[in-house]
Amino acid sequence: MSLDPHLAYARRMDRADGLAHYRKRFHGTDAPLVYFDGNSLGRPPIAAIERMQRFMEHDWGGRLIRGWDESWLQLPLEIGDRIGRAVIEAKAGQTVIGDSTTVLLYKLARAAVDAQLARHPERREIVIDTDNFPTDRYVLEGIARERGLTVRWIEVDTTLGVTSQQLRAAVGRHTALVVLSHVAYRSAYLADAPELTRIAHDAGALILWDLCHSAGSVPVRADAWEFDLAVGCTYKYLNGGPGSPAFAYVRDDLQRALAQPIQGWFGAADQFAMGPRYEPVPGIRRFLSGTSPILAMLPMDETLAMIEEAGIAAVRAKSVALTTFAIELADDWLAPLGVTLASPVDPAERGGHVTLHHDAMREVTARLWQRDVIPDYRDPGGLRIGLAPLSTSFEEVHRGLDATREVLRQVIAERAGLG
Ligand SMILES: *Cc1c(COP(=O)(O)O)cnc(C)c1O
Repeated sequence: MSLDPHLAYARRMDRADGLAHYRKRFHGTDAPLVYFDGNSLGRPPIAAIERMQRFMEHDWGGRLIRGWDESWLQLPLEIGDRIGRAVIEAKAGQTVIGDSTTVLLYKLARAAVDAQLARHPERREIVIDTDNFPTDRYVLEGIARERGLTVRWIEVDTTLGVTSQQLRAAVGRHTALVVLSHVAYRSAYLADAPELTRIAHDAGALILWDLCHSAGSVPVRADAWEFDLAVGCTYKYLNGGPGSPAFAYVRDDLQRALAQPIQGWFGAADQFAMGPRYEPVPGIRRFLSGTSPILAMLPMDETLAMIEEAGIAAVRAKSVALTTFAIELADDWLAPLGVTLASPVDPAERGGHVTLHHDAMREVTARLWQRDVIPDYRDPGGLRIGLAPLSTSFEEVHRGLDATREVLRQVIAERAGLG
C-alpha cells in the first residue's frame, strides 16, 4: 500500500520547516508521546533544566542574599522587557513579571476602575463576555461587588468570540473598563484587538487584554494597537513551567495615574528604607507587591530567547500551518464520524489551537491519555488540540489525529452495540 498522502505531506512539511530544529530543544520530544496541550502547560526547554541547576548551585547557593542586590531585583523588569520585545511589541518599561494572571488581572482591573471612577463617577460598568476564561469573569465580578459596579455581559457564540458589532453595542458613557481575551480559550477565536481597542477608547473606556492564549503563538502589538493594560500567562506557549508567574503590561503614560490595590514593599519608592508610609515607585515596578518568584521566572527566559531568534512572525506562520493541517485531517477523517469544527475556519480568525466537537469527546480524551496522546477536553464535547509551534511537529499532528480517529470509531461502535 502506498504511503498515506497526509503522512507524506506531514513529513515534507517537517523537512521544509525552518523552525523544526527548536523541537529538539524541548525535553521529551524524542519520545513517541503526542502532546496537544502546550497551550495549557508547555514542555520544559532543556536549557531551562540546566539553568535551574546552575542557578540553585551558583546563584542561590553561592550568592545567597547578595543575589537580590546583584541581579534578582531587576529580573522581573528585565524578563518583562524581553516579553515586550519578543512577544507583545511593547517598548521597555511597560511590562513586568508579577503574580499569577488572576492576581495581576485583579490589580490592574481594580486600579483601572478606581482611576475611572475618580474622574468620571458615572462610569460604573465593566464589560466582559460570558465565555471569557472563568478566572477573568470571577475576578471582575468580585471587583464589581467591591466597588458597587455593574457587570455588562456580552453573550457570545462559544465557537467564536466577541465581535466589533457586539462590543459597540455594549459600551457607552457608563463603561469604565472592558476586559477581553485576545484568543478565546475554548474556540481559539482571535479577536480583532486593534479594532476592539478603538471601540472601547471611542466610548471613553479603558481596555484590559488577556493575552494568555496568544502570548508566544500569535503576534501582539501592544503599543501600536494602543493597549491600555494587558496580562498574560507564561506557562502556556512560553514554557515557564507549572505556576510560573504571569506578566502585566501597563502603557507608560497610564502608570502614574494607576494605584494598584495590593500595595507592598516590592512596589514601594524606596523599598529598603522601610519607611512609615507606602509611596509607589515611579514606573512599571509599582505593580509588584511582594517578593518576586525568581526561581519560577527562569525557564520562560529560554523560550523567549528562541522566539527572539526565530521571530514571532515565523512562529505564527508555523502555528497557522499546524492548525490548518489539523483541520484538514479532521475534515477528512473525523467529519465522517460526526465531528464538527468548533473553531474559526479562517486562519486569520484563529489562534494556536483547534477545538473539535463530538458528544463522545470526553470519553475519547480519557482513552487518548491512556495511549500517550494528550489533548484536553472542554465542555461541551470539545476536544481541544493545542499546537505549540516551537515544540510540535507535523508528523506529531498526524499521529495524534490518527489515534483520535481510531479511538472515536471504537467509542462509537461500543455505543452502537450498547444501543
Ligand atoms: C490560563 C488562563 C488563565 C489562568 O490564570 P492563572 O491565574 O494563571 O491560573 C487566565 N486567563 C486565561 C484567558 C487563560 O487562558
